Amino acid sequence: MKYRFAVFGDPVAHSKSPTIHLRFAEETGLDVCYEKVRVSEDDFARAVTDFFATGGHGLNITVPHKWSAFKMASQLSAEALVAGACNTLMPFGQDLYGHNTDGLGLLDDLDRLGWSPEGLRILILGAGGAIAGCLSPLLSRRPREIVIANRSKDKAVNLASRFGHPVSGIGLDCLDDLDLPFDLVINGISAGLSGSAEIELNEHILNTNGACYDLIYGAQETPFLRMCRPLTAHRSDGLGMLLSQAARAFELWTGVSPDPFSQLSDFGRASEN
Ligand code: NDP
Repeated sequence: MKYRFAVFGDPVAHSKSPTIHLRFAEETGLDVCYEKVRVSEDDFARAVTDFFATGGHGLNITVPHKWSAFKMASQLSAEALVAGACNTLMPFGQDLYGHNTDGLGLLDDLDRLGWSPEGLRILILGAGGAIAGCLSPLLSRRPREIVIANRSKDKAVNLASRFGHPVSGIGLDCLDDLDLPFDLVINGISAGLSGSAEIELNEHILNTNGACYDLIYGAQETPFLRMCRPLTAHRSDGLGMLLSQAARAFELWTGVSPDPFSQLSDFGRASEN
């Protein structure tokens, strides 16, 4: 059997998904073709319908279509329901099944790094779609506290209120008012902090042995990780999360689990300890 997968996004040229999934196919011995398709918002519903009507087996969905994918799917996983967004679609009988693997990918990567969230005080920077998808998986590991700090305070407060204790939301400008330092700081600010010079992590915010995780990834050290360098040796970008969320989609579509982290050394890495 030949599997047909694709990623839909706009823009999509930067996507590493085809490379990652074709390596999973090689590793698992499955026959896979994987396309990268730029799809405009207006054309999204038609493109998804056509893809599955013509025999497609699985879609990865990226910016800006995760919310549209959520609206289209008539069957939803618990993760997609809580996130209000889907990054993975597949046919389910006559229906469309939507899942969100972002938060599960983050958890897999935190486990790999030895930063499992149990009992930790966690500070999250940003309150966008990716963070919304990560909250329920993080909470399933019973952290002591999660504080979401966002430029638009209302968005942080509203997101936190969907979960209640131990999650709370504050404005980014209130970081210095917090009482105790955090064990883990997760950055989900898409600007990579370049546009938010007012944020400055210090010993008051991050524990001496604390860890910093950036959802953003790249061949170069991200601005967030560079800022954290003087504070801690425990820093990682989001490449492991990207690989793991992809592995979880591949497993959903094929029933076969590839090893996400075997590809870590294939991509240029930012600092990680
Ligand atoms: P969204 O656009 O949904 O959210 C963006 C967030 O960044 C918001 O909280 C926004 O704040 C904040 N922000 C943007 N610009 C600034 C700024 N100049 N100053 C302060 N805050 C700012 O993006 P996503 O949540 O979908 O994605 C966030 C990042 O995570 C992206 O870089 C994405 O590539 C990455 N990502 C990585 C994944 C991985 O597998 N490693 C998976 C998914 C995403 P406000 O609400 O105030 O606008």
